[in-house]
Parts: sequence; C-alpha cells; structure tokens
Amino acid sequence: MKALVMSASKNPPEGAVVLFDGKDLSNFTDREGNPPKWKVRGGAMHVVPRTGDIVSKKRFNDFFMHLEFRCPDLPEAKGQARGNSGVFLQSWYEIQVLDSSGAKVAGTGDCGAFYSQSAPLVNACKPAKAWQTYDVFFRAPRMNDKGEVVEQPRATILQNGIVIHNNTMIKGHTGGRPVSEEGKPGPLVLQDHGDLVSFRNIWIIPLPPAGSSEYQPG
Ligand code: MG
Repeated sequence: MKALVMSASKNPPEGAVVLFDGKDLSNFTDREGNPPKWKVRGGAMHVVPRTGDIVSKKRFNDFFMHLEFRCPDLPEAKGQARGNSGVFLQSWYEIQVLDSSGAKVAGTGDCGAFYSQSAPLVNACKPAKAWQTYDVFFRAPRMNDKGEVVEQPRATILQNGIVIHNNTMIKGHTGGRPVSEEGKPGPLVLQDHGDLVSFRNIWIIPLPPAGSSEYQPG
C-alpha cells in the first residue's frame, strides 16, 4: 500500500510557538524545574543519558505540532533498547520514539505507537541516523465539572509525511510521571530513555477547542 504522503511545512508559520529553533533550551526545564542538561549542537538538541526528561515551560490544550527526531544506529541493540525516547503530549500520552526501521509489523511498543496502546497504522520509519518528522494534530481530553474525562484525547499523526494515526483515541495515561493534571493544559515532555536520540525544529500551533457556533449564511 502506498500511503498518502503530505509534506508539512518545516518552517514555523506565523503565530506558531517555537519551542526549539536549534539555538538553546531556554523553553525547557528538567523535571525539577532546573535548566536541562541536554546538549545543543549543530542546530539540534541531544539527549545526555541519565540527565532526565525535559519539559516545555509552556503548557498546551489542543494543538498542531511539528517536531523532528533522529535515532542512533545501534545494530546490536534489540527491542526497546534501539534508540528509545518519547514525545509526551501534555506529559501524559507518549508517542514512542524508537529505531523500528525494518520491522515488518510495527507494534504497540514501536516508533509512532501510543506507547503500549495503539500501534501506528503502518511502519513509516526511516533508517537509524536519518532525521524523521512527526506532525501531530492533538485534541485534549474533555472533562466534566467533576474533573472526570468524558471524551478521551485523540490524535492524528503523520510520520515522515505518512499517516500513522487517523483520529486515534488515546486510552488514558501511557506511563511515566505526568507533571500536569489530566485535562488541564500540559507541557510537551521529551524522554531521556538512556539513548543518544536527537530532536530539532519543534513548534506548536495552539488550537481553540471549537469554532464559532454562529451560523452566518452568505
Ligand atoms: Mg520511549
């Protein structure tokens, strides 16, 4: 099957919240609120293993996000040890980052999966060391007055321009420690899973929860 290929804009459009433009990590902290210890070099940020996850200072509800990542080449490593990281939406819902290139069937632990919940529709991975893109349309959970989830969060995702999630319902927390309350604006968290994964060009367009209910014919 030849999947639909759409090339999303690499350059942040006007009005986008640029979280990382290749220069510094001033829009992130570590989980304790201190400056992150990840390295910035060559226009990208690089996980420094065992210095911990990084957390965006800004928090978001619904959004569109563009992000690029690169996994190291670890030919001897198996499974979850192959260039593991993760992109946590609102700090709750992890889109797995892993070198799953070559896997015939991408499973719920593979790159592009909502970790341990929903596998990507197809394996859209490029080989290790190639830069890859995630373009994410995220709809946050809807809550009632009691703070209960009444509509689960949903996401549509393109990996390298290929649709890997089509309005996928996210069935709650995927693991890891959230830093925000479910249903409240939450930060983007990038995972230190001990591997030398890199990220670059990260920007978000916050979206309103709905359009106007006004009907204006003509
Ligand atoms: Mg991970």
